Amino acid sequence: MSDDHFGGCTCGAVRYRVIGKPQVATVCHCRFCQKRLASAFAVLAAFPEESVEVI
Ligand SMILES: [Zn+2]
Repeated sequence: MSDDHFGGCTCGAVRYRVIGKPQVATVCHCRFCQKRLASAFAVLAAFPEESVEVI
């Protein structure tokens, strides 16, 4: 399985690719994350800057 992951903003104006595994992956239950995702929690992943490419 590839370690390349693609994503972007909701409107589609920005797309990105990250290579490799995240340095940190966590779940946040704060009010801000609940409101912005309309969910009980948010899943967050942090990658080193050199692993992220805006495409
Ligand atoms: Zn949060």
